[in-house]
Amino acid sequence: MARSRDMGRATAVVSAADVGEWHGETDVIVVGFGAAGACAVLGARQAGAEVLLLERASGGGGTSANSTGEVYLGGGTPVQKACGFEDSAEEMYRYLMASCGPDPDEAKIRLYTDQSVDHFHWLVANGVRFKESFYGDGSYIPTDDCLAWSGSELNTRYAAIAKPAPRGHTAQREGIEAGGELMRALCEAAIRSGPELVTDCLVETLVQETDRSVVGVLARVDGEERFLRARGGVVLCAGGFVNNKDMVSRHAPWLNRCRLRLGVDGDDGRGIRMGQGAGGEAIRMDTACIVLPYTVPKQHCKGILVNPRGQRFVNEDAYQTVAGEIGLRTEDGQVFLLVDDEIYERPFPPVEFEAVGETIEELEREAGMPEGSLQHTVAYYNAHAEEGEDPLFHKTPEFLKPLARPPFGLLDYRVETALWSVFTMGGLHTSVEGEVLTADGDVVPGLFAAGRTTSGIAAQGYSSGLSLADATFFGRRAGLAAGSRATPASSSG
Ligand SMILES: Cc1cc2nc3c(=O)[nH]c(=O)nc-3n(C[C@H](O)[C@H](O)[C@H](O)COP(=O)(O)OP(=O)(O)OC[C@H]3O[C@@H](n4cnc5c(N)ncnc54)[C@H](O)[C@@H]3O)c2cc1C
Repeated sequence: MARSRDMGRATAVVSAADVGEWHGETDVIVVGFGAAGACAVLGARQAGAEVLLLERASGGGGTSANSTGEVYLGGGTPVQKACGFEDSAEEMYRYLMASCGPDPDEAKIRLYTDQSVDHFHWLVANGVRFKESFYGDGSYIPTDDCLAWSGSELNTRYAAIAKPAPRGHTAQREGIEAGGELMRALCEAAIRSGPELVTDCLVETLVQETDRSVVGVLARVDGEERFLRARGGVVLCAGGFVNNKDMVSRHAPWLNRCRLRLGVDGDDGRGIRMGQGAGGEAIRMDTACIVLPYTVPKQHCKGILVNPRGQRFVNEDAYQTVAGEIGLRTEDGQVFLLVDDEIYERPFPPVEFEAVGETIEELEREAGMPEGSLQHTVAYYNAHAEEGEDPLFHKTPEFLKPLARPPFGLLDYRVETALWSVFTMGGLHTSVEGEVLTADGDVVPGLFAAGRTTSGIAAQGYSSGLSLADATFFGRRAGLAAGSRATPASSSG
């Protein structure tokens, strides 16, 4: 049996004709027990299917349990209403269509925004608690509060397209991190629904019929190879590929330069490669959530981000993932933040100063920037900031003030020195039902996927909470579709 030894390429399937003996059979096999997998189990069980859940680690949770537990939800959730924010499915749709591009997945965005309030209630019904409180700003909430601005909704560019509303909903926590709390609830709900769970079980590849139908998996349990048959389908929920250097080098090499990879060991792209091996197409493999961590304290957004030529390249009130994406892809990760004495506070995570001086000229010289470059940038910026304007990048007036009080400092946010973090957003192309699609747009029968194994709602311009949003929402739908395929009679209503 030929299987790929290259950790960056598609994994060859096993032909069903070569399976001597099936070691088990069920309706739906779910691969991976993170957020997408837990919700796929719940969806498949809702369809009345028998489910086998296979997880390579010793327990459930995955990267989802290590996350900050923020889910992007809107359209008028009870928390938004209780906190006094108006929102609608249409405004949320317009924001996501504008920010997740170019070429956003309109079908996924339309469905998710139309059903986001229902999804909120579904998460609550499955034990996730959201406190009716507004925290303010950010992707990380240190308290047990819920609602926060977690994207670029307030930016001039997006506010002109869609009425802004905060949509980051962080699960209420008690002691542990919110991601742990979210996954405690979802894992418990999934287990309660009654699947058979096998942990320490690495799914190695898929089993496929000659007509392309995926009919099972080859898994390794206790060192033994096991062929496991699925009557309805296999749902791949095995995370992304940030921990597979070969794959990252092939699809998005610049990501390998970020120091912090946001993923468990299981994020080695095996789910994506198995899907490719069965004929699925992987899309948007160069997209990622790239965090340039300069927004704590928030008032540092009143500073300016510059490249080694002393030039600005982004509105500094952009969400940190947007600044990260532009900073890494167009500025090669060579980024400094200019602050003055009025706005400077110790940053978190900590960073070093590249240069400190009583004048901008001194700073420019110490940092080795071309003579006059930074001075020109600051003079131009200050003159317009004085008037509450930013003709180049349209930063919101709240963050505009002349940088005029010495001493000045250039904080070193270069990708080699600061703690940039990243996880991948590209993956298998799926329909809104979670069916894996080929490059021709055909369905691979019996193969479903969700979460970071797929390309979901977010592509570029990541807003925090979108990954858990599509993992939970489309995970449930993928499970439901696979379950319905196994039990067509029970799901006909
Ligand atoms: C510190 C941090 C903070 C974050 N904060 C947020 C946030 O607030 N909001 C947000 O939306 N996103 C956040 N993210 C990103 C988010 O957590 C992930 O993108 C998301 O959890 C992915 O969910 P998933 O179900 O696709 O994958 P996972 O949760 O990683 O689950 C995949 C599971 O599949 C298993 N698996 C893999 N391969 C196999 C195999 N071959 N056989 C069997 N099992 C396998 C893995 O062991 C794992 O348990 C954060 C990430 C980190 C690390």
